[in-house]
Amino acid sequence: MSERNKVVALVAAAGRGRRMPGDIPKQFRMLSGKPVLWHTLSRLQEVERISRIIVIGHVSDARLHDEVIAHGGLSKVDGMVSGGAQRRESVLAGLRLTDATEEIILVHDGVRPCFSRALADRVIDAAVKGGAAIAAIGATDTVKIAKDGVIIETPDRDSVWQAQTPQAFRRDLLVRAFEMAPSVKATDESTLVEAMGHPVQLVEGELENVKITTEQDLHQIESQFARRAGVSGVGRVGGNLRVGQGYDVHRLVEGRKLILAGLEIPHPKGLLGHSDADVLTHSVIDALLGAAGMGDIGRLFPDTDAAYKDISSLLLLDQVRARLEASGARIINIDAVVIAQSPKLQPYISAMERALASHLAIQVDSISIKATTTEGLGFVGREEGIAAQAVASIVL
Ligand code: MG
Repeated sequence: MSERNKVVALVAAAGRGRRMPGDIPKQFRMLSGKPVLWHTLSRLQEVERISRIIVIGHVSDARLHDEVIAHGGLSKVDGMVSGGAQRRESVLAGLRLTDATEEIILVHDGVRPCFSRALADRVIDAAVKGGAAIAAIGATDTVKIAKDGVIIETPDRDSVWQAQTPQAFRRDLLVRAFEMAPSVKATDESTLVEAMGHPVQLVEGELENVKITTEQDLHQIESQFARRAGVSGVGRVGGNLRVGQGYDVHRLVEGRKLILAGLEIPHPKGLLGHSDADVLTHSVIDALLGAAGMGDIGRLFPDTDAAYKDISSLLLLDQVRARLEASGARIINIDAVVIAQSPKLQPYISAMERALASHLAIQVDSISIKATTTEGLGFVGREEGIAAQAVASIVL
C-alpha cells in the first residue's frame, strides 16, 4: 500500500449494554484496571497506518472523557460524535466527520479489544486492493436457517463465515453504499456494500477477537489479559515476570517532619534518617530493586554520602525508575503497606498512590497502598517507629 492511503478508524461505542447485568455498558466495564473501550482504542492507536480515530459514542457521557480518554495514551483520538439509534446511523455520523483525503475507513467495534495489529493491517491491505474487506472466521458449527422455528435451509458449512470487525472500505465506496442502500437493514457496514453489488473480500479473522456481549465474554478476555501479563510480559516478547519485596523501619522522633510517599503528613513527630526517612518510598525502592536484581537502597544510595543528606526520597525513586527503564524492565504492579500506630493514614492513601505512580510513570491503578496498626503491640504500637513493606512485580 502506498504511503498516501490515509486510514481513519471509526469506533462504534454507543451501545447501551442491555444484554449484560448492571447499568454499566460493556465498553466501560473494567479489564485489567482500564475500561474495555480504552483497550480497543489503544490497540488501534498502535496500528501505524491509522492516522486518526473517531469515537462514536454518547458524547454527553462523562465516562468517555473521565474514564477512557483520561487514562492517556490515545493521542490519535481526535473526533467524537454521538451515535444514532441504529448502528448504520452511528457509523454514518462518524463517516460525516471524515473527509475525502482519508481514503480508507476502518470500522471497528468498541467492545472488541483483542484483535491483533496484523489483522488490522491485513484488512486495510485488502481494502486498498479491492475496495472492501472484513475480518471473518469460518463457522465451526453447522448453521441452520430457520423461519418461525422451523429449519428451511442448511447451508454448506464451508461457505458460512462469521463476520467480525475490523472492516475496511474505500471511503468513496462506503459513502455510496450508505446513499444507495437507505432501506437495507444492516448490522455491519459490509452488508451495505454487498447490497450495492460490490465484492467484499474475506480476511481470516482471529478467534481471540471476541466481541464482548456477555459476562462470560468479559471473563474469558480477562483471563487472556492475565495470561499475557504473566507469561509473555504485557506485550514484550521474551520477558519474565519477576517479584521483589522491600521492608524498612525508621524511628519516630520530635523535631522532624513525617514524610510518606513524598507527602508531609501532619503529626507531632517525624521519622529520623539520613534522607527524609520516607519509609514507604524506601520499601517500594527496595521491592523494585529486588525484582530487578539490582541490590538495595543502602548500596545504591549510601548514607555516608553527603549528596543524599535530607534528600527527598522521591528523587531516589526517580533514579531507580531510570535504572529500571535502562534495563528494559517494566513495572506491572506495586502493593505496599505502612505499619503505624498513628496518625490515621487513610485520608492520604490516594494522594500517596498518585505521587508514587507519577514518579514511576505508571498508571495509578498499578499501585496499591494500605495502612495498618499493630494493635498497640511492639515498637510500632509504642509509637517508637513506623515500618513499611512492599511487593513489586516487573517484567524483565
Ligand atoms: Mg530507610
